[in-house]
Amino acid sequence: MKGTNDEPETRPVREIRINPIVPTESVLVATARGMRPKEAEKRLERDTRTVVETCPFCRGNEERTPPAIAVYPEEQEWEVRIVPNLYPVLGDDSPGTSLSFGLQQVIDGYGRHEVVIDHAHHGIAIHEMSREHLSLLFGIYQQRMADLYASDPRLRYVLVFKNFGPAAGASIAHTHSQIIAMPVVPENVQNEVHHSHLYHRKYNQCVFCSLIDEALTYEATIYDRDSGEVRRKIDVGQYVIERNDHFVAIKPFASRFEWEIHILPLHHEADFLSTPEAHLDALAELFRRTMARLDKVVGGVQYNFFLHSLPHGEEYEGHRQSYHWHLEICPRTSIPTGFELGSGLFVSTVSPEEAARALREADIDADLD
Ligand SMILES: [Zn+2]
Ligand SMILES: [Zn+2]
Ligand SMILES: [Zn+2]
Repeated sequence: MKGTNDEPETRPVREIRINPIVPTESVLVATARGMRPKEAEKRLERDTRTVVETCPFCRGNEERTPPAIAVYPEEQEWEVRIVPNLYPVLGDDSPGTSLSFGLQQVIDGYGRHEVVIDHAHHGIAIHEMSREHLSLLFGIYQQRMADLYASDPRLRYVLVFKNFGPAAGASIAHTHSQIIAMPVVPENVQNEVHHSHLYHRKYNQCVFCSLIDEALTYEATIYDRDSGEVRRKIDVGQYVIERNDHFVAIKPFASRFEWEIHILPLHHEADFLSTPEAHLDALAELFRRTMARLDKVVGGVQYNFFLHSLPHGEEYEGHRQSYHWHLEICPRTSIPTGFELGSGLFVSTVSPEEAARALREADIDADLD
């Protein structure tokens, strides 16, 4: 991705960047041509059909899934349907006979695993869904998370995520996301909770809020040295992809995936469940615009998204000031190498600054109505 004429020539970057949220994680940014040890992941020829006769998730085939847990609205022309996962990674029928022995500690694999058929149209992409629909979907995530937490006090975390494309782990083409309720907190959430707590103890500030402030400040205060006029400059690290009154989409300065984007509430909020319903519309619009940018720049990309929110349970109550919920969007544009999996050091061959610029400059307004 070359800059246009009036931008400074971009020099190849080769540096190890420390994740500001979880300093024990780092990423190697290596952008020089010929320095690309990675194999590109396939772009997906997206199945854009509205209805597929043989698809168990399409309207009219409801009897091919287990009975629905919830249907919105409750009629034949449903918009969103939640069903139990046929192959749950966790189930609530565990007899509870797990034995821990010495260093081999085991927790019963109880929990819940649900599939959210997130649109009736088989092959619709996120950015093609309406703002109203996405707003409904986020409201449904909140509802299900609240219900699941209430259903069993032993549950510590309810993870909402989406796999899109086989490289991202999706086995059914029909657009869907998943909800897994579990008795343990996923390690990456635990790391974020832990390190943001340490940061808060030291600086009396939320590290996520600090990052947002920094990104927005850089955006607002770039002046031309000669004329004194305000102008936007590219090379100082503008990481803001989208923003509105309540949310911001940021390209992390040190992220595992080249095109990774995080969406956060602008005002501090630890738990996604505390986000007022009135803000979900703004979240939906920002999410839709962000996904349209991704589609424009890396079309047909396979991706995951994860919702990271404060875990539940007494031991997490003290983290409300330090943790800040967010949505991580992780496009799979390359296949992780043995080096990355073995070392935990991910390699990014696109500089985050270049990625941010390309995403920000993508012309999406003609595609969104
Ligand atoms: Zn379908
Ligand atoms: Zn915060
Ligand atoms: Zn996170």
